[in-house]
Amino acid sequence: MPGKVETLADGRGIPVVIPEEDHTFVLDEDALSALLLREDVRDRAVVVLSVAGAFRKGKSFLLDFFLRYMHHKYILGESGEGWLGADDEPLKGFSWRGGSERDTTGLLLWSQPFKATLANGEKVVIFLMDTQGTFDSESTVRDNAIVFALSTMLSSVLIYNLSQNIEEDDLQHLQLFTDYGSLAQEKSVGKPFQRLQFLIRDWSVPYEYPYGAQGGLKLLHKRLEVHEGQHKELQTLRQHIQACFEELACFLMPHPGLNVATSPEFNGKLADIRDEFKTSLRQLVPMLLAPENLVPKLIGGQKVKAKDLMQYFRVYMNIFNG
Ligand code: GDP
Ligand code: MG
Repeated sequence: MPGKVETLADGRGIPVVIPEEDHTFVLDEDALSALLLREDVRDRAVVVLSVAGAFRKGKSFLLDFFLRYMHHKYILGESGEGWLGADDEPLKGFSWRGGSERDTTGLLLWSQPFKATLANGEKVVIFLMDTQGTFDSESTVRDNAIVFALSTMLSSVLIYNLSQNIEEDDLQHLQLFTDYGSLAQEKSVGKPFQRLQFLIRDWSVPYEYPYGAQGGLKLLHKRLEVHEGQHKELQTLRQHIQACFEELACFLMPHPGLNVATSPEFNGKLADIRDEFKTSLRQLVPMLLAPENLVPKLIGGQKVKAKDLMQYFRVYMNIFNG
């Protein structure tokens, strides 16, 4: 419809990779091609931002702020701080708080592509991906490793959403995903993946490492440090993670307040969210999504167009289903 501006209410998260009972995966080709082969986006280089991690750690909630930014910036073409929204506006988009979707695992893509122009004039298209898994037991970790591997392989920016801290377990899971991912990828020069952004929610010791990107980087250095006397396994794990990604970053998010964490009536409105959290959102979101910070997806050193991404979904799925 010419002249009609798309709203976020017109979009939804579409499951594109769906795990089955028998440990295989189904690719929703129709949904995916409707999105990736659209006339106006198929030939654009893609930027794929994926948020991955366990259930109920605020991934979808955060993605909905990404959506607000993208809509404001790339659909309405506005700048400034207005993107965060009005104080009393309920937060919509990827459905958060679970509800009936609580047990869904797999990959979801937002149904609306966002078209952007990089600082160098290149026209790209941005896709947002939600990645859900469970890590309750060793078997669920293994079952979900493929979903996370796919998410790693298909994104240019992987946001690893963790609660409270970076634990040894989280690093081990990451190693598992990147192992699967590297195995399935042809060898090429350079590191296999691009940007890994750790995101620590409910960071509670800002006096040790302050909120934000700088505190995050300090914590990350500390956690990924390889030193003499350290157990060989811990060293290898750390070297492996460093070798997989071109760029590592970490951001420490404050707690959003008790309304967000516990109130059943909370609908996502800004008025009920702590100021510290909003301040951090204002830093984090443009750091990831402003035109000058977008990272186009590379596979084997080459930029990937939307129509090629369709092909990669198929190829990678076949490898894991094979
Ligand atoms: P997901 O399963 O990881 O996608 O989690 P959701 O986005 O559905 O959020 C799960 C619950 O966590 C909701 O009740 C949110 O209100 C709440 N939540 C969102 N962000 C945060 C956060 O940073 N900290 C805490 N403690 N809770 C959050
Ligand atoms: Mg979710």
